[in-house]
Amino acid sequence: MIERSGYVAIVGRPNVGKSTILNRFLAQKLSITSSKPQTTRHQVLGIKTENAHQIIFVDTPGLHKNAEKAINRYMNRAASSAIKDVDLVLFLIDRTAWTDEDQMVLEQVQRSHLPTMLVVNKVDLLDDKTVLLPHLQELAKKGEFAAIVPLSALLQHNVEELEREIIQYLPESDHFFPEDQITNRSQRFLAAEIVREKITRQLGDELPYSIAVEIEEFGQQDDVLHISALIFVERKGQKKILIGEKGARQRSIGTDARVDMERLFDSKVMLRLWIKVKTGWSDDERALRSLGYDDV
Ligand code: GDP
Ligand code: MG
Repeated sequence: MIERSGYVAIVGRPNVGKSTILNRFLAQKLSITSSKPQTTRHQVLGIKTENAHQIIFVDTPGLHKNAEKAINRYMNRAASSAIKDVDLVLFLIDRTAWTDEDQMVLEQVQRSHLPTMLVVNKVDLLDDKTVLLPHLQELAKKGEFAAIVPLSALLQHNVEELEREIIQYLPESDHFFPEDQITNRSQRFLAAEIVREKITRQLGDELPYSIAVEIEEFGQQDDVLHISALIFVERKGQKKILIGEKGARQRSIGTDARVDMERLFDSKVMLRLWIKVKTGWSDDERALRSLGYDDV
């Protein structure tokens, strides 16, 4: 059988469903999702090998118009570097809305001259399905697309059809990764992402995006995986929110995170969370590098 293998970037403004569709493709929870924008900060590869095909998905942080803070500049660099050196781009949008940010992503994608499929996500939320077809015809005029595919990443409608389209665009090539490898990221990294997701989910409205998570300990003892996570916040008040009434919030974040980790690592997990104030980290390039935001 001829092997095919290629890189597919998933791009789009924040919150259109990039991480959700990646998780659907991989049929596993790999990339974190939440209803708050800016959840995905790092570049995560999701590798799917089936028969002779290996698709390497590149999930990206959404592109940001506001690049004033160092953390946003970092995210823009990560997103634009993702569409270099790929074989195909999946450009996600949210139903029939077309925003300035979508336009900005489109222009960036067009500059890359790569084959691009426009993925119209969240169609399950459309009350009136008859608006879809004329809308797809309008979208076709915005640029040259290899395909325009309406789907629901959340409900997994039409995702397999998209995958079949993608395979047509993979170059003939030996596989880049062993067939049982599903990501380029370490278990430590994934553990930190899970903690960050739970914080964003439970406190998104109260806490801004001023947290970072570092895994201090990650090791197996007997049948139990012992994990310690250090959570950095910018201000004392944020630390208080994270701890909550008599430590209730901290415990509930810890419980949610542990449940996900046990599923992902297939092991009993003992998780400890520590919270530390580190002023101004999100606007300090050097502090960002020390927290691992330097891989682009
Ligand atoms: P990203 O910022 O582009 O990575 O977006 P996420 O994957 O984190 O998704 C943002 C939000 O949209 C989450 O609450 C998802 O559950 C939701 N979402 C993603 N895809 C769909 C979909 O097909 N239908 C619906 N109803 N919600 C979706
Ligand atoms: Mg995401």
